[in-house]
Amino acid sequence: MADVWILAEVQQSADSTAVGLRRVTHELVTAARGVAGGNRVCAVLAGHGVAHLAGAIGADTVFVMDDPALAAYSPDGWAKAIAAVAAERKPGIILGASTARGRDLTPRIAAILGAGLASDCIELGTDGTALTALRPMYAGKALARVRVTSQPAMATLRPNSYAPAGDAGASTGGPTIEAVPVGDASGRAVVTRVELTASTRPDVSEADIIVSGGRGMGGPEHFAMLEQLADALGAAVGASRAVVDAGWRPHSDQVGQTGKTVSPSLYIACGISGAVQHLAGMKTSKLIIAFNKDAEAPIFSVADYGIVGDVFEIVPAFTEAVRALHAVR
Ligand SMILES: Cc1cc2nc3c(=O)[nH]c(=O)nc-3n(C[C@H](O)[C@H](O)[C@H](O)COP(=O)(O)OP(=O)(O)OC[C@H]3O[C@@H](n4cnc5c(N)ncnc54)[C@H](O)[C@@H]3O)c2cc1C
Repeated sequence: MADVWILAEVQQSADSTAVGLRRVTHELVTAARGVAGGNRVCAVLAGHGVAHLAGAIGADTVFVMDDPALAAYSPDGWAKAIAAVAAERKPGIILGASTARGRDLTPRIAAILGAGLASDCIELGTDGTALTALRPMYAGKALARVRVTSQPAMATLRPNSYAPAGDAGASTGGPTIEAVPVGDASGRAVVTRVELTASTRPDVSEADIIVSGGRGMGGPEHFAMLEQLADALGAAVGASRAVVDAGWRPHSDQVGQTGKTVSPSLYIACGISGAVQHLAGMKTSKLIIAFNKDAEAPIFSVADYGIVGDVFEIVPAFTEAVRALHAVR
């Protein structure tokens, strides 16, 4: 097989300055190493003012597409520019992240290249001749193992499915960094403004721990209780759709089929019934804890641990216990 490419994702500040790499970029490197065999793991780093991030990715080679034409994200423009480089260099596998950006961009690149794409995968491998992938289907009720036989083979990977590569992912002696000229990146649609939510908490799609609230929280004012627990754990705060539809929390917090798909190490569901559309977005979390006053709530069917009771009693007590544990340490 030829090189394995990953599409790096960059973290931007409010003024669109590239301030770092998103954690999922390092997770993609880990996944790429697992399928690369003896081949190179290469990263495509696209944008404007991003070149300084190349050394931190952990790939063997970084193709830096740093150009004012890529300052604003354009789905079709970026896809065209990146696909042109891939068509010329012919990687064996291209991996993107199953994030808002990755879900938008990666299939467009696949369409231009005529490549097969396995989307929203939680595990990647090879069987010697093809890329294999495990992907949840039917709102998480079934797991499909698929083979992608095209050249290149493409996949998007759900965040938190792999440990981030960190220093261990870096090749010895640092990566080879190659500036790649950006061809035609003109697009019919261009993102003109990005509004970042001002929060010191991690984003649900990247967080290792998520404290999520449902309609059982009783009102937006009671989410302060979940924020306290989240702060004690260093967690993000998520929400069910019922809560978002009621205007209690922003849509960016929504977990589920029409929200974000998450796979954190720990997911704590508070007053969430566990409708199939919610489970679709969090079922692959490594450890699930549920608090619900209804012992028959479907959330308990996926929970590793659960407490049947009132969130207004359980959550403050749980928060105190977490704080006490930190104090001992
Ligand atoms: C096409 C489609 C897409 C959808 N996408 C999503 C999605 O992305 N994400 C999503 O979440 N939903 C989604 N839904 C909606 C989904 O079907 C449910 O309606 C929603 O998840 C319910 O949210 P909830 O669990 O917060 O509320 P409810 O179903 O009302 O559950 C509230 C729970 O809180 C418990 N409770 C109440 N008071 C307390 C208390 N004091 N202490 C402890 N427990 C208490 C109750 O026992 C109950 O189990 C979608 C639906 C459709 C049709």
